[in-house]
Amino acid sequence: MTAAPILAAENLTRVYAARGRLFGGGTAVRAVDGVSLALAPGETLAVVGESGCGKSTLARMLLRLVAPTSGRVLYAGRDFAASDAAGLREMRRHVQMVFQDPYGSLSPRRTAGQTIAEPLEAYGIVRGAAERRERVAALLRAVGLLPEHAARYPAEFSGGQRQRIGIARALAVEPRVIVADEPVSALDVSVQAQIINLFQDLQAARGMAYLFIAHDLAVVHHIADRVAVMYLGRIVESGPKRLVYSAPQHPYTRALLSAVPRPDPDAPRHRMVLEGELPSPTDLPPGCAFATRCPLAQPRCRAERPDLRPVAEGQAAACHFAAP
Ligand code: ADP
Ligand code: MG
Repeated sequence: MTAAPILAAENLTRVYAARGRLFGGGTAVRAVDGVSLALAPGETLAVVGESGCGKSTLARMLLRLVAPTSGRVLYAGRDFAASDAAGLREMRRHVQMVFQDPYGSLSPRRTAGQTIAEPLEAYGIVRGAAERRERVAALLRAVGLLPEHAARYPAEFSGGQRQRIGIARALAVEPRVIVADEPVSALDVSVQAQIINLFQDLQAARGMAYLFIAHDLAVVHHIADRVAVMYLGRIVESGPKRLVYSAPQHPYTRALLSAVPRPDPDAPRHRMVLEGELPSPTDLPPGCAFATRCPLAQPRCRAERPDLRPVAEGQAAACHFAAP
């Protein structure tokens, strides 16, 4: 990455008191553990990992919907937490979120038009009903819907259409960054590609950066410029898309890639099935968290946690056996 980052995370960590008593009452979950990342203006960073690895917690900390236990978030070089209320509001405007569940994130009692107009009004972007109607109509068109859809309620739309409304709402304030938390996971496979294409078209037209979260590498193959792979709260591999897909250095990335239906021709061919237990996040082993499932694991891996270290131009991996 060459340009100064528009959004950066430095050593972000979030610890939760474990839910319920079943899993050792009183213990803590390190939902996100020392994650650093930087997003350049206009680029797409995909964050990929299995359910429970901390993706949503990371996304919410980036928007300060969840306070970090430690670490910081910088928007255009400014610390989110150190800002006063006005500064925080301004940063929040420029960093918008699109949620996984377009139904749950839209109020059932508000029309699409009201939902999209809300941030326009909150930030004083429109004056008067006519201007508001015009802006809402333009936003609906931008996401492939029609101006007359403004009068409809969420229940009257399909899942894909609802996600388009969520995207229009995020776009309304002309953000510079969109954090999209598994925005296609809840959609039919046939609709997923359409929504991903929409994200790409909008980025080409408007130039905002995306932090695009997904639980598998297939979904982000076309949209990502760079990829960060998470496992149990930590980034275990990151790098330019081309390298991560064609020369993955972490065994977990290789396992995720082997599950991608149409891998790159030069990607590893054998489907790798992960065996062994996923450790409880409240009781992480002392060494590499992936060691319990890793085909390469040696005694060293169970004793010594590998740091994320550079392995190739722009690529880093947290594995004792990664090249070089
Ligand atoms: P993902 O989005 O990758 O599925 P999450 O960020 O939702 O992961 O969760 C990461 C871990 O943190 C999980 O073990 C989850 O149970 C735990 N967690 C998330 N939110 C809370 C919370 N509010 N209270 C307690 N534990 C939580
Ligand atoms: Mg999630």
